[in-house]
Amino acid sequence: SIAQNVAELDASTFNITRSTNLRDVPLPGSPEELSHSYCTDHMVTVRWTAANGWETPEVKPYQNLSIPPTASCLHYATECFEGMKVYRGYDGKLRLFRPDLNGERLNSSAQRSSLPSFKYDELKKLVGKLMQIDGSRWLPKERPGSFLYIRPTMIGNGAHLGVQVPKEALLFIIAVPWPDFIKMKKEGQKEPSKGLRLYASNPETIRAWPGGFGYAKLGANYGPSLQAHGQAQALGFDQILWLFGEDRQVTEAGASNFFIIWHNADTGKLELVTAPLENQLILPGITRRSVLDLVSEKLSKQAVGPLEPLQVVERTLTIGEIEKAAAEGRIVESFVSGTAYFITPVAMIRNIDTDISTLGPNGEAAGYAAQIKSWLEAIMYGKEEHDWAYTV
Ligand code: PMP
Repeated sequence: SIAQNVAELDASTFNITRSTNLRDVPLPGSPEELSHSYCTDHMVTVRWTAANGWETPEVKPYQNLSIPPTASCLHYATECFEGMKVYRGYDGKLRLFRPDLNGERLNSSAQRSSLPSFKYDELKKLVGKLMQIDGSRWLPKERPGSFLYIRPTMIGNGAHLGVQVPKEALLFIIAVPWPDFIKMKKEGQKEPSKGLRLYASNPETIRAWPGGFGYAKLGANYGPSLQAHGQAQALGFDQILWLFGEDRQVTEAGASNFFIIWHNADTGKLELVTAPLENQLILPGITRRSVLDLVSEKLSKQAVGPLEPLQVVERTLTIGEIEKAAAEGRIVESFVSGTAYFITPVAMIRNIDTDISTLGPNGEAAGYAAQIKSWLEAIMYGKEEHDWAYTV
């Protein structure tokens, strides 16, 4: 059959065109950096056609794309993407964090939007090539502990105004300096905030539903969520906490997964609770997976300093349960996890007209999020050798 003759995605050879007009690297906190759109000197592109499969990957100067106004992605949202980072380690090396999970997720998102699949472990090699070329200028060795944000994206770029499965696609990868909000807050703030303020979505606006595509990283999930996000920001909140169903299940928050640490209502035991993956309502975050793995490994059986052991629980939880736990003084801490905003404590949730504090009993986070963050950072920046890190 045709499918057997088309080429697989192969990141072992590249056609490389180097930029002859290198851009200035923006300073931390500069308007260019704050634009979230000032990309590095080069990009990776790989074309795909139904007839021939994947072509040889290219590295070329960062540039605009040329696509026909009839391109499938512009009309039918045949688009998916990933978000990852490359980290400059304290030992001078560049690392990706669990990049095969990004490869697998991009592949699964591509399938959900009728875009071509690929061997997932090629993604890290494509990103690695880009960083071998741009990494030394854009993440200088003199600035260990810094990172670039990487955005692999796939689009149906062929002329397909008739509704159909794309016959052409483009995978491209761009890299962009990203403001380190955590560092900026520490340096610039008079009164440090105790955490994010979340606005629980109202029942008329649903992000994901059974049989839908909330588990995939499709642009189609984000555009329709921006209206609620904008309204929440206008009211002074940081993110929407997406609820689902009659029982108002807590799913995830903005572009991050949501966690709560509380004492179980029946047993009194300390638990770390987050929404499950099975019903496909949330994005399977790579940071989420890593938080669960690390806590199971390091904190489920023994205490760490003042932090008591806790049980990892992936289950459906409702906003009503959180409200009740707050009223009964059982909440210990809450936080969100994601690549862009990392591990960030949550201070409160507004649910319709009730404000729920998600800080511990003394109005402070207990310190679990901070501990988990430092374990993750040790791996990302090479303070600890770990097989989750992929050296470029
Ligand atoms: N949920 C959503 C909706 C997201 O967009 C993201 C960011 N990719 C996450 C969760 C967190 O995923 P990750 O930890 O892989 O960045």
